[in-house]
Amino acid sequence: MGIGREVSKIISQTKSSVTQSGRIRSNDQISERLCISPLENELILLIRKHGNLTKADLVEHTDYSRTKITQCIDSLVAKNIIKSNGSSDFTGGRRSRTYSFNGELGFVAGIDIGATSIDVVLSDFSRNVISRKSISAIVRDGPQSILTKVSDILFQIFRENNLNPEKLTGIGIGVPGPVDFSLGTVLSPPIMPGWDRFPIISTMQKSFPLANIVVDNDVNLMALGEVTHGAAKDVNNIIFLKIGTGIGAGIISFGKIYRGSNGCAGDVGHICADKNGPICSCGNAGCLEAVAAGPAIAERGRNAAISGNSPILNKYLENNGGFLRAEDVGDAAREGDPTAIEIIRSSGELIGDVLASLVNFYNPDMIIIGGGVSNIGNLLLSSIRQGVLNRSLPLATRDLQIVFSAIGPQAGIIGAVSLAIEHMFTVECNNALTILR
Ligand SMILES: [Zn+2]
Repeated sequence: MGIGREVSKIISQTKSSVTQSGRIRSNDQISERLCISPLENELILLIRKHGNLTKADLVEHTDYSRTKITQCIDSLVAKNIIKSNGSSDFTGGRRSRTYSFNGELGFVAGIDIGATSIDVVLSDFSRNVISRKSISAIVRDGPQSILTKVSDILFQIFRENNLNPEKLTGIGIGVPGPVDFSLGTVLSPPIMPGWDRFPIISTMQKSFPLANIVVDNDVNLMALGEVTHGAAKDVNNIIFLKIGTGIGAGIISFGKIYRGSNGCAGDVGHICADKNGPICSCGNAGCLEAVAAGPAIAERGRNAAISGNSPILNKYLENNGGFLRAEDVGDAAREGDPTAIEIIRSSGELIGDVLASLVNFYNPDMIIIGGGVSNIGNLLLSSIRQGVLNRSLPLATRDLQIVFSAIGPQAGIIGAVSLAIEHMFTVECNNALTILR
């Protein structure tokens, strides 16, 4: 029996026990996943990250013996999770078989729900993108409207590519709000009215009853996207900082998303950067996002324009009909406007100061800066670097890299696909089953 049918059969036997709340971690759901050993899991992660690998490559990456690698590879091939691809290029020795994910495991969808847009990608397990679609949609319209649109787009993709939607075995969904990961719901999301505790998973399962569905915060998924296919492919511990209307961080620890006890790890936008600063949306004074995110940069730019301190910013303000964005301040800085340069520099240094504390605490390999405000460019990045280097311990910054996202706006959707694939597997440890996350 092919693995697709095998998976579908297992899922159809257990899917009726999904609760209305969308609870997905109950033990009766474990049989929905494919059971693998910890070493098999390690090999799967490597093959997902690097594509085609030989047994020799796997020995080199893991330090396990060739015999052990061979046992695991044989087991994964028998489970139809990976497949043998014949011989690799001739490299001077004998030709070796390479191994990759079995593309016939089914399809995986990555969904990135933003404040004003929905991005959907359909891919197979071999990382081949089948289709990608983006539409404008206002998340404030509420979950029924948005999730109906998501399902419609997915069905359209299946129709256009003559594929069977029942082959959709995994869906990863990123949302712009705090997520209770164990329940797959958002909790008191500031920019998502109507979504509080809404059963996203069970609602989507009405359209795709055979799919394993997982929901996470968008910044966590951007961080995961960077470690699986972006700037952090070769490192294990990162902080991904998204700077946009707000500021938030995704934390990756040893290649995995670190969510904390309640799922809100990484909410760094509300760390106090200036206790005499403006009041934040959370009610406290001087939170990092209140003093350094996009709206704060735009507000300082607007004040400089109106007060006559910056003729260039005033020109942008007039051209935009009295409206100024953070990107305009960035453009004015690139034109050499000293006021705009100072606004960007001080915003970057405030962000760098907070990051320095995080670096001292967490000692990451890499900090990746993403989000709309990162488009401001190198002046912001160099100011952030300066802030971090000024205040971090030398040992913590010795090998630290601070870079922009390598995959930009794609990071969230790539992370959503990666999480959906991870979620397909359970790892067997010491006779107990532990859900892989
Ligand atoms: Zn705050």
